[in-house]
Amino acid sequence: MLDKRDLQKCIHCGLCLQACPTYLTTGQEAESPRGRIYLMRQAVEGRIRWAQARPHLDACMGCLGCQTACPSGVPYAKLIEAARAEVETQARTPLQRWVRQQAISNFTQPARLRLLLQLAGALGLRRAPRWVARLLGASDSVMRLPRLPERAWRPKQTVYPARGVPKARVGLLLGCAMQVLFDRVHAATVGMLTLAGYEVHLPRAQGCCGALWVHNGYPARACRNARRLFMAFREVDYIAVNAAGCGSTMKEYGLLFHGTPEQAEAERFAQRVRDVHELLADAPLPEPARRDSLCVTYHDACHLVHGQGIREQPRALLKRLPNLKLIEMEGAELCCGSAGIYNLLQPHLARDALQRKIAHIKATGATVVASANPGCTLWIRQGLEEAGLPVEVLHPVEILAKAYDAMP
Ligand code: SF4
Ligand code: SF4
Repeated sequence: MLDKRDLQKCIHCGLCLQACPTYLTTGQEAESPRGRIYLMRQAVEGRIRWAQARPHLDACMGCLGCQTACPSGVPYAKLIEAARAEVETQARTPLQRWVRQQAISNFTQPARLRLLLQLAGALGLRRAPRWVARLLGASDSVMRLPRLPERAWRPKQTVYPARGVPKARVGLLLGCAMQVLFDRVHAATVGMLTLAGYEVHLPRAQGCCGALWVHNGYPARACRNARRLFMAFREVDYIAVNAAGCGSTMKEYGLLFHGTPEQAEAERFAQRVRDVHELLADAPLPEPARRDSLCVTYHDACHLVHGQGIREQPRALLKRLPNLKLIEMEGAELCCGSAGIYNLLQPHLARDALQRKIAHIKATGATVVASANPGCTLWIRQGLEEAGLPVEVLHPVEILAKAYDAMP
């Protein structure tokens, strides 16, 4: 439910405009945070229909760059999620809703995602077919279908003991796309957390955290996912997350369940959620085992930097590696355009944001981009390949696990 008081916090100062990738591309007020907040306010007050606001709300990347830039404390994440729920119920047909729900289901169910990617591989499909994009309301299909990893890492046990005296029990969120496409990031996370003294649990009955559902206007579906996580992680001290979008959503479960009998339980759960960098930055680590020379630039995933306020910890961890040179890119905090399934739904704005990101990466001369979100990693990899740049994209924990020789 949109709260008018949150909308009224916007004083129209415009300090958020330069932090907004869609405003930078279009230069249009309606594609800026200030314009979108004004449209939401008009729709809430009944001066326009939600259908009139819809194209501009759909074009928002949900990157939250504006929330960080805003001096007035406008809670943009809360506003856009509530506005999207209004759009889904009031400004889409039942068929449009069904198609969008199917798309989200395909991304958030590991078995289904794996099967679809296997099928696409067997048929030689590199991109989602254009008719799929059209069904989703997109004009084109530019997002490449990811390839399944050749040698998947399958955990051999459900508990990995800490090296040394355990300081806490940590449950690792396996997620959906992460589990299918980034199993090596999970392996690296297990390796680094155990090295840092945590006992790592991998509960089997987890499922998706609900981030894609809540970001696309389906909070009730997200609640269903969250309840499963409450059960799965009831016996650990912390829940570790290595995907920015998931961690950001899980830290906001209190808001998701606001005003319901489950709010207190959701808040207690949220207080135990930690991004993997937070856990590692707080722990003493031994000297790295390897001293490989690396030239790295760090991309701030939106839901890590703007959603969770995590900027320093990943950089500080990388800087502990003796021969790693960290070069800051311009616009590190600007969205790359991946934004969940945004690059599927808004291909042109997403591509423009990607090109800006690739230009900034190129200017650093780095040979590795560190990125802590699966969507960003896939999208930036695609941009680098298309630009012919021989640059790897790795999660910071992959870089760390290699240097500390910590892969399980
Ligand atoms: S969330 Fe990102 S794209 Fe949306 S209005 Fe804010 S800065 Fe712009
Ligand atoms: S910076 Fe904040 S108060 Fe200023 S226009 Fe943007 S959202 Fe409104």
